[in-house]
Amino acid sequence: MHVDPLTRTASAEPGALWSDVIAAAAPYGLAPLSGTPSVGVTGYTLGGGAGWLTRLYGYAADSLLAAELVTADGELLTADADSHPDLFWALRGGSGNFGVATRLDFRLYPVERVAAGMTMHAFDRAGDTLAVYREWAMKQPDTLNTAVILIRMPGGPPMLALRVVSVEDAGRTLAPLLEAAGEPISGGLAEMTFARAPRPPADGAEHAVRAVRRADRRRDRRAARLAGRRHRGAALGRRHARARRADRTS
Ligand SMILES: Cc1cc2nc3c(=O)[nH]c(=O)nc-3n(C[C@H](O)[C@H](O)[C@H](O)COP(=O)(O)OP(=O)(O)OC[C@H]3O[C@@H](n4cnc5c(N)ncnc54)[C@H](O)[C@@H]3O)c2cc1C
Repeated sequence: MHVDPLTRTASAEPGALWSDVIAAAAPYGLAPLSGTPSVGVTGYTLGGGAGWLTRLYGYAADSLLAAELVTADGELLTADADSHPDLFWALRGGSGNFGVATRLDFRLYPVERVAAGMTMHAFDRAGDTLAVYREWAMKQPDTLNTAVILIRMPGGPPMLALRVVSVEDAGRTLAPLLEAAGEPISGGLAEMTFARAPRPPADGAEHAVRAVRRADRRRDRRAARLAGRRHRGAALGRRHARARRADRTS
């Protein structure tokens, strides 16, 4: 795992987790297009990879600069935009179908501090909140990423959770959504380093997520993540528009 702050790039070998890259990039005020910190860099990136910065900077696969890999016939090569460009295109979303990657080089971005967190709300506000979310989410800046999640505590009632990671202060823009969700039962938003953002603040909200995960591991059917809506569009939409234009002209 290597970070070059001058070129704002990182190199990672198989086995590296996003938590490794986040920790290595943070001292330079940089961040990767990571997902959950415990997820592996290689599988995530080759599969596409959509995380909290994706609306702003796109899929992790689109930030891949080069991949060193062993092909099915045992050849060790490096694929990038100039060398084996077709293979490079296929790797970015093609997962493990084109060889065994032994190193990925990818871009980092100048993201140091974010406004982030999670709030838990009464479940009976879920319908109204999702209705507001559908319209509201379409108009939000690329710097803001949110998710509306319906979860059930072990043996407890279902609840509505709002998760937020914003590269800019989002207090005013979040107001209509928070108004629809009603007074939070627990949780909150705070300014924090990007490294802390994927984890909700240490309060009731974090315990809720942990409890649901534990229950999921035990296959406790009384507790589950019931459903979720995650913010898309922005850089993702522009990418699809570019891809459609390229398809039409090819
Ligand atoms: C808790 C959790 C949270 C997640 N959150 C997100 C998220 O926010 N956004 C998102 O986009 N995805 C998310 N995912 C899905 C995640 O991106 C995929 O599970 C991804 O495949 C994980 O990669 P891995 O290297 O950890 O897994 P692995 O099981 O090791 O690999 C999965 C696949 O990746 C390929 N692969 C792995 N290593 C190599 C290699 N060296 N060379 C070639 N191919 C390889 C293979 O096809 C393999 O089957 C999440 C998954 C989990 C478990």
